[in-house]
Amino acid sequence: MAVSSKDSAANPEEMRARLLAMQSELKARLGHLVEDLAQPLDPDSSERAVETEDDISLEGQALLVSRELASVNRALERIEHGTYGICVECGAAIAAARLDVRPEAALCIACAEQA
Ligand SMILES: [Zn+2]
Repeated sequence: MAVSSKDSAANPEEMRARLLAMQSELKARLGHLVEDLAQPLDPDSSERAVETEDDISLEGQALLVSRELASVNRALERIEHGTYGICVECGAAIAAARLDVRPEAALCIACAEQA
């Protein structure tokens, strides 16, 4: 029996709620990271090298969080446009199990593996 895209698509209202929760959590994390990045280094500290390395990893974290936030925002836009759960690359339905793990997923498994 063939499964239509409607059957495999997750409930958009439920996914919207999950994405909005992710969005506010990511925004809070990004806010904390930006705050930490804004802390000036202590020039007299013998741990300056360590602090600098920490700064790099904070920047890396901030970059990752902002990318994830952008993915979540795009997923919310797809819900608004009624295209949520459809692969942006090939137009196939994204498996509900995949959306359950990654609600912000924009690609089906096949396209994600090629990326
Ligand atoms: Zn695809």
